[in-house]
Amino acid sequence: MDQIVIKGLEIFANHGVFKEEQEKGQNFIVNATLYFDTAKAGRTDELSDSVDYGKVCELIKDFMTQYRMNLLETIANRLARKILMAYPEIEAVTLEIEKPQAPIPMKFENVSVKIHRSWHTAFIAFGSNMGDRLSYINDAIANLKADMRCEVKKVSKFVESKPYGGVEQENFYNGVLELRTLLEPKELLEFLQAEERHAGRVRKEHWGPRTLDLDILYFDDMVIENDDLTIPHVDMQHRDFVLVPLSEIAPYKRHPLIGLTSKEMLKRLKDSYVTRK
Ligand code: ADP
Ligand code: MG
Repeated sequence: MDQIVIKGLEIFANHGVFKEEQEKGQNFIVNATLYFDTAKAGRTDELSDSVDYGKVCELIKDFMTQYRMNLLETIANRLARKILMAYPEIEAVTLEIEKPQAPIPMKFENVSVKIHRSWHTAFIAFGSNMGDRLSYINDAIANLKADMRCEVKKVSKFVESKPYGGVEQENFYNGVLELRTLLEPKELLEFLQAEERHAGRVRKEHWGPRTLDLDILYFDDMVIENDDLTIPHVDMQHRDFVLVPLSEIAPYKRHPLIGLTSKEMLKRLKDSYVTRK
């Protein structure tokens, strides 16, 4: 992808673990690479179709001088997010913050922290079969939309279906949404679980009635397996109430492990019903 590169931006600021560093201050050097598609600006020659790097430099300076932090890691992380939120057309940023006068009692040239952060694309399945079902779902979508770190790109139609797993309960409303997000997988899971709690969900029986269920189906093409998070979602390929709405908003998105598109997985599932009968 195209890049705008800012190199050697010098900023006097007061970060550091030592009291003296925070009181006296020192020079920091920022290098930033902004990844975005410059094709439109290349055609129109209009600054409004590009990213104004002068403004980005000001944002970096304001951020660096407004706060006092202990660690370069913290500054880099927060600053990267700040840039990506301020300029949603930037897909990713590589940020290096150098501290050439760091308090190390040896001769050294430089020390720096360098990170890469980007927007991600996640697909989330939502469902509710208890209480004011549509409000629970719509509130959760509204809360995702309201968060600066999230952009809801598409929402499927809601499908009504019979509950899964044989527990006696009301019908479900289900659907899938596409999210562009700065949250990392674990942060997204925590965000969604907070939404579930906000909807008053109490975890009782597995498969039992729930005011709101939010599951991460995909997170870019990542494959994750740990105690509290499995991505792609382990059971999605067996659930028509996931595959029907997913095929509506992302028919050709390919499952990174199974290798089939949403439409192909849905067809396979329907065919398996026929053969079972
Ligand atoms: P289910 O969604 O299967 O009906 P729950 O919503 O009660 O079940 O979730 C049970 C656990 O599943 C959660 O505590 C969560 O940590 C874990 N989990 C694992 N992978 C995912 C995922 N991809 N999305 C959401 N939760 C997940
Ligand atoms: Mg769940």
